Amino acid sequence: MNNRLYGNLIFELSHEGRRAYSLPANRFGDYEVPAGLRRKDDAMLPECDELTVVRHYTNHSENNFGVNNGFYPLGSCTMKYNPAINEEVAAMPEFANLHPLQPAETCRGALEAYDGLQKALSEISGLAKFTLNPFAGAHGELTGLMVIRSYHERRGDTKRTKVIVPDSAHGTNPASAAVCGLDVVEVKSTPEGIVDVDDLRSLLDDTVAAMMMTNPNTLGLFEREIPEIAELVHGCGALMYYDGANLNPMLGVCRPGDMGFDVMHINLHKTFSTPHGGGGPGAGPVGVRKGLEELLPGESEISVGPYHGNFAVLLRAYAYILTLGREHIKEVGPLATLNANYIKESLKDVYELPIDTTCMHEFVLDGLKDKQAGVTTMDVAKRLLDYGYHAPTIYFPLLFHESMMIEPTENEGKETIDGFIEVMRRIANEAKDTPEAVKGAPHNTPIGRVDDVLAAKHPVVTYRQMAAGE
Ligand SMILES: *Cc1c(COP(=O)(O)O)cnc(C)c1O
Repeated sequence: MNNRLYGNLIFELSHEGRRAYSLPANRFGDYEVPAGLRRKDDAMLPECDELTVVRHYTNHSENNFGVNNGFYPLGSCTMKYNPAINEEVAAMPEFANLHPLQPAETCRGALEAYDGLQKALSEISGLAKFTLNPFAGAHGELTGLMVIRSYHERRGDTKRTKVIVPDSAHGTNPASAAVCGLDVVEVKSTPEGIVDVDDLRSLLDDTVAAMMMTNPNTLGLFEREIPEIAELVHGCGALMYYDGANLNPMLGVCRPGDMGFDVMHINLHKTFSTPHGGGGPGAGPVGVRKGLEELLPGESEISVGPYHGNFAVLLRAYAYILTLGREHIKEVGPLATLNANYIKESLKDVYELPIDTTCMHEFVLDGLKDKQAGVTTMDVAKRLLDYGYHAPTIYFPLLFHESMMIEPTENEGKETIDGFIEVMRRIANEAKDTPEAVKGAPHNTPIGRVDDVLAAKHPVVTYRQMAAGE
């Protein structure tokens, strides 16, 4: 490869006696550490010179793939560009050094930003009021469902224990309902990929607490029937919950509050930037329509987290909203939608497109069209890494066997998108001509194909465990 010490653990670069520092001579005399506090064995620490340490960590950091160094078409996650100005704002000492218990009159600026974000989210979503407490989308779902449960309880309507969730829903929807102590009922999708209104009708009665939907849905399709769905759900006394993870293509175009949703969350780390690869950080503010405000945390008995939520993420979102402004925020949705449709149309002759309609900000392919050589979605995803692209979301949604979910976002230019299309088409050709090369991918990455199941079920994250041969 080259002379980089790739893939090594810092411990493996250790040489007994090597030091990256020197301490001044002891001017204070010896001090006996009490016997009970003394360790029996020496601490296991790597012994390295300074440049080895610096290069080790720098090389590892360069193995990291992010939006800042390449195209990242992961679907369902909205991995968009995170402008550096957001980071600057979040790091301002006036914000970063605040203590959550300091008196309100000493942090007026922070409270103003907090209030400004709440109002901006209300305006964007068409809902009356937001709590900024929840720490993630899933946490927002739980909060929102607690609000809904409390709404029914306060009315003495205690039979309502069911939450209706589309079969295409993100896994967090049924999980949140279950954590909230509610029963999950699945509603079918039509062959077109949207909620089957007839099936829904058969599920609605006075035991239903809420219907959860995301729009565009998990297949990237706009749920055309929402006005009718909202009427049916409200007609049976239940509330409409909007999972705002897919708000991106609707920004400035339409609002969940106008469509009949009563409660929603927004994944600020998706639609309003904040780097969130590897699981965090996030924020999932929850908004409610007029009349439900007093059920929100802070106003009611519902409590979902301490203080003011993930404040640095809130600041990034507010900075993002303010830098775009009313005028430019309207361009986000149409551009994200245009980019996704452009890729979809450019790939559908070589990749299977199970639902061939206009998509919103993302779309789902069902593997290669030509399945003769047995090249799978996993193989294509691994081969993409060889060409310097992050893989799309794969094997999700579960509706298809070889799902590949692609979301380019509004930020990408035409050349980048064309480059991705070209590589996807090249891989489709390779799958025909030299399938073994694709099945053996990746060839150019520091680490080859890992055992995903083993890595997920038995992650080895400490050196000591490695040494024990686990
Ligand atoms: C990401 C996502 C969630 C969960 O949000 P987190 O912030 O990851 O907890 C829920 N629903 C959909 C549709 C999503 O894409």
